[in-house]
Amino acid sequence: MLGWSINLFRIRGIRISLHFSFLLLLAYVCNEGWLADGMPGLLWSAGTFLAFFTCVVLHELGHSLTAMQFGVHVRRILLMPIGGMAEFDQIPRKPSQELLITVAGPAVNFVIAGILWFVVDFPSGWDLDSASVSLADLGRTVLRWNLAMGFFNLIPAFPMDGGRILRALLALRLPYLKATYWAATIAKVVTVPGVLIALYLGQYFVAAIFVFIFMAGEAEYRSVKRREAEEAYWKQVMTEPPPPPPAGEPPVLNG
Ligand SMILES: [Zn+2]
Repeated sequence: MLGWSINLFRIRGIRISLHFSFLLLLAYVCNEGWLADGMPGLLWSAGTFLAFFTCVVLHELGHSLTAMQFGVHVRRILLMPIGGMAEFDQIPRKPSQELLITVAGPAVNFVIAGILWFVVDFPSGWDLDSASVSLADLGRTVLRWNLAMGFFNLIPAFPMDGGRILRALLALRLPYLKATYWAATIAKVVTVPGVLIALYLGQYFVAAIFVFIFMAGEAEYRSVKRREAEEAYWKQVMTEPPPPPPAGEPPVLNG
């Protein structure tokens, strides 16, 4: 499902790729803008959409560049309609490193919001869809988006950022697998009402994101469990003494 993508460019060796469904969403957004207001509507829709995803890339770069500081290889950042995903070779087991890598993403959004705060006035409303054609309005819209993105990612729904922060904090005290189990369990407790509330409010897209998080949390817990079992197996194999040579056999000549 994640295979069909287009590579755009590289930043510090990290590939930035677009999933094909991202282009479908862009086409949909442009069409909606065109139907609403002709060419200005199309330009506004495409402009705000690309500004939003630029912030998503910056958020993922926050995670990725911090991870690279700890020697993690970042293969690519994949952009999908539900957001971005940085693909690491491995996630550091050290809770302090996972904590810093995770916090760096939302921190980027709050920094962008802070910079925009100085450039434009504080947004008066919280309507994320408000569209207008002035540059200041674009700035206000992007400011609100970044605040929303930063806070939404901090919801403790593993494997979202908030859930990873929770896992890292739990892993300071608990074994890694136990910490992952509790983070994934809390994610279920958070996402089920999240889906129901989003459906009640008619926010089907948000409901779909919560369903995705629910499944992704469970999948990541299973993968950690599998890896721990494999590691335990190999550890046992490596530490087992070699079997004694069968009695009565002639010594083997080398050479
Ligand atoms: Zn993030």
